[in-house]
Amino acid sequence: MTQHVNIEEFHPDQLQPGTKQRLYLDAFATPATTVTLPLLAVRGANPGPTLMMVAGVHGDEFEGPAAIYRLYDELDPTALQGTVLAIPICNVFAYEGLGRNSPLHVDGLNMARVFPGDRFAEPTRRLAACLMNLPRRLLGPDDLLVDFHSSGTRYRYLPMIAFPKLDTPASARSEEAARVFGIDLIFAMPIEPFGRFNSQTVLHGIPTVATETTGQGGQRPEDVQQFLAGLRRLLVWQKMHGGIQPERSLVPLSHLEHIYVEESGFFIPEADVELGHVAQAGETLARVLDPLGQERSRVVAPYDCRVVALRSFSVVWTGDIAFLLAPMKGGN
Ligand SMILES: [Zn+2]
Repeated sequence: MTQHVNIEEFHPDQLQPGTKQRLYLDAFATPATTVTLPLLAVRGANPGPTLMMVAGVHGDEFEGPAAIYRLYDELDPTALQGTVLAIPICNVFAYEGLGRNSPLHVDGLNMARVFPGDRFAEPTRRLAACLMNLPRRLLGPDDLLVDFHSSGTRYRYLPMIAFPKLDTPASARSEEAARVFGIDLIFAMPIEPFGRFNSQTVLHGIPTVATETTGQGGQRPEDVQQFLAGLRRLLVWQKMHGGIQPERSLVPLSHLEHIYVEESGFFIPEADVELGHVAQAGETLARVLDPLGQERSRVVAPYDCRVVALRSFSVVWTGDIAFLLAPMKGGN
């Protein structure tokens, strides 16, 4: 039987050096059940930093978990310096409910808007608080956290690696890690005081990167391979594993901007608007229709830009993200 450990009592020192283990972390009990998180732990034969991977903060994003499962299988703990910890499914409510957010009967919350969580609130906030405590307890400025996201079932993103942009050593280290990861679209994310796991860990001084990629409820082999290659590069860069030091990318940082839908309705991108499309200021990118097919509103390029993510689920609500745009030089 798989071992269960109380999440507050787990410490990688409990594992024998040079071994790996799959276990469940008991987070908290409800009248109906005990909420548990899956944990994959690899303790290297020799001491070193910790690489922690988290995925599934959204329940419909699967490339990250797939990369984690593969890395766990291939890692040889006797050849590892330091510790690799992974929680492949963070929002277990959303995962079981087949959706991005926790199901309505739980609390309907988007876990990426509730960090650092609250132990005395709804289940999703409670689980976020349990999750937050792990890096807070176990990681420091020499360690690294990778927060895997993808487009889920409602969007399509170009593969990108992101880091929370702040004027701190942890953010500078995060940028280095993003440049090592090997994806050539690097997003310097504005920090949010509350909400995202990856903002909170950087605010706590933990170097952090986050991903985006195709999604669509699938796991394209090339996307999983790209994540896996990035993780291998980070392990070498952190001197946790042998290999040739990866070079830092010299790709300029991207300052991406979200464009939102103004009115609810049926969302139709223009025929030529695909991922990577270059649009001119004023160009119509998509239209929102009423049930009779009449135009309610338009989404227009506010400046010369490249489309790096777009809405793919065709019903939109006011305030939903329509596009993520990269302003072109001279635009904006
Ligand atoms: Zn996500």
